[in-house]
Amino acid sequence: MFCPRCGRSGQDLVEGLCKTCFINDISLLEIPDEIEVIVCAHCGSALRQGKWYDQDSTEEETIYNAIISNITANKCAEDVEIWVEELIVRGSNIKCLVHVQAKVLGEIVKQEYDLNVKLLKNVCPECSKYASGYYEAVIQIRAHNRLPSNKEVEKIDQIISGQIDRLSKKNKMAYVSERIVLKEGIDYYIGSYKVSKKLVNVLKEELGGVVKESPRLMGKDKSTGKELFRIWISFRLPNFHVGDFIKYGNFIGQLISVDGRKIQFRDLDTGQISSIQWRDYGNIEVVAKKEDAEETTLTAKTPTSIQILDPDDYQPVDIDINPETKDIEVGELVLVIKIRDRLYIVMDNDKK
Ligand SMILES: [Zn+2]
Ligand SMILES: [Zn+2]
Repeated sequence: MFCPRCGRSGQDLVEGLCKTCFINDISLLEIPDEIEVIVCAHCGSALRQGKWYDQDSTEEETIYNAIISNITANKCAEDVEIWVEELIVRGSNIKCLVHVQAKVLGEIVKQEYDLNVKLLKNVCPECSKYASGYYEAVIQIRAHNRLPSNKEVEKIDQIISGQIDRLSKKNKMAYVSERIVLKEGIDYYIGSYKVSKKLVNVLKEELGGVVKESPRLMGKDKSTGKELFRIWISFRLPNFHVGDFIKYGNFIGQLISVDGRKIQFRDLDTGQISSIQWRDYGNIEVVAKKEDAEETTLTAKTPTSIQILDPDDYQPVDIDINPETKDIEVGELVLVIKIRDRLYIVMDNDKK
């Protein structure tokens, strides 16, 4: 047996050549002269086989991955290592040298290949939706029988921008396409319905309130013929603030905390703390605002009752003592609230 290329004899032939000629002849890689890499100019997503892939990597890594996916290694090559050297960048063209090292028949073989990468900038569908002001849902911030206060709006803005910051790292549709100030509240136009649900859940958890959803038919999608819905989510803040006075069933109380789980109040007769579930929100009646409480003086005290002066006419009034009021001494100033012609002592929640 002799090698038809070099004429040497006495060797096993591989695919008709001696080992040396086979190795000299081999192409380690099957690689095109040029590849196209399409990336989103805004978010860096890359288009591969007709699909956009989110890209956390740098442009260099994107190019490397695109090259690798266009290369086939020779089946005789083992332990293939590939690295890419970017030689010259001219506009959207990047001249690259692809280095490869592999083992063939136990010998280490190194080769280089020229490759032109055409880096094309495009806009991915999510970014083009964002740019066109696309939205799937509108969160309407309202308040029941009142306007949302500046403090509430500030807090809501803060929650929404914090959540958007967090969610947009994973979801490009997590954006506010518009924030519209209306006389009855604020409307937020949100890229994704799923994201708006999450936002509303956090708002409700922190502030409490009533959520209602209503879809609206917006017409038909021209390309698919499917009906297009947008969802309006109304988030209605309650008719009260912490510190306000309420009537709930037979109880008269002062609100001491409000969040997404429950509404807590201190009973003004007994000083005890109870809570109300949001589903009973409709049974709460606001009977006085926090600002309506007035100061007066405690004028006398017995083991079961205390006497205060009515701030309206300075007439003495006797009130049953309760565990919350038992430590107030004669001569001290106390806060009182008059509800339906009855005076109640108000404990200062901030002091406790
Ligand atoms: Zn040979
Ligand atoms: Zn994009």
